[in-house]
Amino acid sequence: MRLVTFTDGMGTRLGALDAAGQVRDITAIDSALPRDMLGLIARGLGRMPAINDAPVVSEARLLAPIPRTPKNVFCVGKNYHEHAKEFAGSGFDGGAKDVVPPYPVVFSKPHTSIIATGEPILGHLDPTGGLDYEGELAVVIGQGGRGISKGDALKHVFGYTIINDVTARHLQKRHSQWVLGKGLDSFCPMGPAILTADDVPDPTALTLTTWVNGERRQHAPVSDLIFDIPTLIEAISAAITLEPGDVIATGTPAGVGIGFAPPRFLASGDVVRIEVPGIGVLENRVA
Ligand code: MG
Repeated sequence: MRLVTFTDGMGTRLGALDAAGQVRDITAIDSALPRDMLGLIARGLGRMPAINDAPVVSEARLLAPIPRTPKNVFCVGKNYHEHAKEFAGSGFDGGAKDVVPPYPVVFSKPHTSIIATGEPILGHLDPTGGLDYEGELAVVIGQGGRGISKGDALKHVFGYTIINDVTARHLQKRHSQWVLGKGLDSFCPMGPAILTADDVPDPTALTLTTWVNGERRQHAPVSDLIFDIPTLIEAISAAITLEPGDVIATGTPAGVGIGFAPPRFLASGDVVRIEVPGIGVLENRVA
């Protein structure tokens, strides 16, 4: 099931996408259903209404599936081998000694950076001219917990979505820590939907593709991750309590703008399109 958060003249609420990609108002036919995504995640998927029985919302505008995550969005740096190499070779990895990190590189983006598919990336907030894209598969935590083992990790996954880990490369390098280069308002496009975990028996079978203005830049199977999803959940939850609706972006494959010589940074008007078949397409234009 593909779940969305949408708004129309009647307010913001939980919905589902049907096979044709239309938004269906599932809370209209099931009054027991939580009205918002975090409420549903906290309750657990359980019994859901038949999507095609719910009315189509013709005027729906999609929001990010989780417009405000419980915590900052967790992100993982350098988690595909080819991307780790291109990042090390770019000169933008200020001070890092290892091309491939021995442990997951975890940082975060504030929830104020989250935007929906179709909303503009505010490129002018990076005055240094180093705007870059990073298409990523993201994990949405269902049942929370601390000290989650690899073996149990996938039982704690509610579903999967797409994130563009938009980055101001010069700020990322200048400040050494990545939050200022990656946490700018609008620098976390998320969506369009959450594909629930019951429809994803093996997340490593998913593939991710990114286009910029129609040119394919990134294409990789999730099976190429250096640290797989269970390892990331185990590492993060070792001492930080994961809560329902927390999001972990798993890292980006090779093909980002700084992987080119010279770098191919984004400019106003550029369109970044990221697709994971099954989840959908996350598309944002640089304002
Ligand atoms: Mg990233």
